[in-house]
Amino acid sequence: EIVFRTEDITKVYDTGEVKVYALAGVDLQLYSGELAVLLGPSGSGKSTLLNILGGLDRPTTGDVWFRESRLTGMNDRELTRFRRDHVGFVFQFYNLVPSLSARENVALVTDIARDPMPAEEALDLVGLGHRMDHFPAEMSGGEQQRVAIARAIAKRPEILLCDEPTGALDIRTGVTVLEALNRINEQFGTTTAVITHNAAIRKMAHRVVRFLDGKIKEVEVNESRIMPH
Ligand code: ADP
Ligand code: ADP
Repeated sequence: EIVFRTEDITKVYDTGEVKVYALAGVDLQLYSGELAVLLGPSGSGKSTLLNILGGLDRPTTGDVWFRESRLTGMNDRELTRFRRDHVGFVFQFYNLVPSLSARENVALVTDIARDPMPAEEALDLVGLGHRMDHFPAEMSGGEQQRVAIARAIAKRPEILLCDEPTGALDIRTGVTVLEALNRINEQFGTTTAVITHNAAIRKMAHRVVRFLDGKIKEVEVNESRIMPH
């Protein structure tokens, strides 16, 4: 089952002098329950694509489908509702509220979601059951990122979009963050797309999508992990 489908999308930034083709014709399908990693050099269009899938940005041309819904046909209000109801985001920087504990940071989201999981359960899932009452300043970077992941999954999103969640972490700490994402993908079947340069993702991901110059250069299937469906 296909969750996302992009049809020949482009994203052009017109900075006056020059036009930057951030995306230059991308056809990508994401399958229900898969964990896909987006690879490629800096500036190859990975973030732009992730932002478009998550409804944070719109393509210049082409269409994006979320199941039977055409994201490119939605107005801003509909796009906001799509993000709120279906998508969890994780970014390089954790954006936790410093004056709130881990539990309270996660609860900020569960307070407004329709069918949230308890903050405690979300924190347990990322291995932070023992850090519920700690504040961000009392936690390591990897722990803070796992709080951010708990916050993203607490509303039980169908989709998790992660833009360099390991970018600010050393390699070993990054692995613990990727393991948390992998566990969520396995346990809940959350369709997940991750931008990371951490090589540990390669064993976990169902597919590796490689970008170059705003295009998909190669899609590699991980034979040791069976694609869902
Ligand atoms: P990646 O995530 O692979 O590093 P990006 O999607 O961030 O690549 O960027 C793709 C290209 O689009 C780059 O050349 C980048 O400089 C350009 N770009 C991204 N966002 C903007 C923007 N808001 N305005 C102008 N150019 C942008
Ligand atoms: P990353 O490489 O971590 O994906 P970038 O440094 O490419 O992030 O982009 C960070 C922010 O700056 C994004 O919001 C992106 O839209 C914007 N940006 C990137 N490149 C440009 C650019 N050439 N001109 C203006 N804004 C840009």
